[in-house]
Amino acid sequence: MYFAENAMTALHMSAFLSGFQCLGDRCEDTCCKGWGMQLSAQTVERYKRDAPELLDAVTTGEAQHIMKRDPTTDYCVKFDAGWCGVHATYGTEFLGDACHFFPRVTRGLGDDAMMTASISCPEIVRLAVLKDGGFEWQESEATRLPDSLKNYVPDALDAQKTQAVHQCFIAAALDETASPETIMARIRSVAASLQTIDMASWAQAAPFYLKNADARIPAPEVQLADPFNLLNALQGLVGASKKTNRPRLDATLFDMQSALKVQLDWERLTIHTSEDSLAAWQEMSKRWQHEWAAGFAPILRRWIAAQLSVALFPFAGFGETPEDRATILGVRFATVKLALMSACQMSNERIDDDTTVRIIQSLARFLDHLADPELSMKIYTETGWVRQARLSALIGVSS
Ligand code: SF4
Repeated sequence: MYFAENAMTALHMSAFLSGFQCLGDRCEDTCCKGWGMQLSAQTVERYKRDAPELLDAVTTGEAQHIMKRDPTTDYCVKFDAGWCGVHATYGTEFLGDACHFFPRVTRGLGDDAMMTASISCPEIVRLAVLKDGGFEWQESEATRLPDSLKNYVPDALDAQKTQAVHQCFIAAALDETASPETIMARIRSVAASLQTIDMASWAQAAPFYLKNADARIPAPEVQLADPFNLLNALQGLVGASKKTNRPRLDATLFDMQSALKVQLDWERLTIHTSEDSLAAWQEMSKRWQHEWAAGFAPILRRWIAAQLSVALFPFAGFGETPEDRATILGVRFATVKLALMSACQMSNERIDDDTTVRIIQSLARFLDHLADPELSMKIYTETGWVRQARLSALIGVSS
């Protein structure tokens, strides 16, 4: 169904979305480039029926039906000077769900739909992560919903309890009395605890576990190679993914490589440390702690909230179980933090908002869409980061 004709579905929208408007030709990393934007069977049927000439722009690839891309520019063939040609000529109802809704993500919760958005879009990073107060829910009109809206309420819970569990994690992410590292460790610990009990009691258990999580977090088990392995893990995921032109991610990787004084070998997907690498890491982490960490703490808390929101954590997202999901999130948190730290170190000052947006968005676009979650878990298992004590060390929980 293209439109919510029966109006049964109440739409709840993250507050930060109320200020969202696609930047179009002003976007620094348009979503019309480098991705196979999917079309549902219903959209293809609509093209066959009402605009058969549009079928020339449809091919197969990452999904059965995707928009064709220009092989030389990697842009969607309908991209025209910063804007969508399908939208301009035919109207929004001819856009497939991926094109119509991106960066919005909508999930069914009983009779309700919850709409939030992905930080793979730079404008969402500005609205949700750089600004405060975006994670309240606002009621909205559902003029269109995705063709298939999966209901995420598990059998053991009702919609209200599912939402209560999720909200409890969002509130934990935004706790200003805790460091983002502690928050991340709490989330990982509580995710593991929830898995050991009957899901029917999650709504009561989640706030209790979150309140008492600190006592259950083991002392971090530090390994000196962790920051280098973290960059190597990112390198491995990039190397295993489809090759596209990603100048913003390249800039992020370049700063990480330079700040750690290492060389990345992209042929062999190996990292070469130098005799200065460890000292470079130690000096950089000291500077981060003294000069930059406090300023970035609200940003990293909102980064966690944005990731939990888009995954309706702990009910969806990458990973088979809540514990796996929290582990993947934890390693990504460490990656974003290392990238921010490296950019500050290379600039010799706190980076500006545009650079912060570039780092967060370029990593999200890659890690949330193109990196293989199975390979991620394989790497994180080999490095030991699936264990709470090792993950705590990686993300920088103080002992
Ligand atoms: S990434 Fe965001 S701002 Fe940029 S073109 Fe896509 S939706 Fe618009």
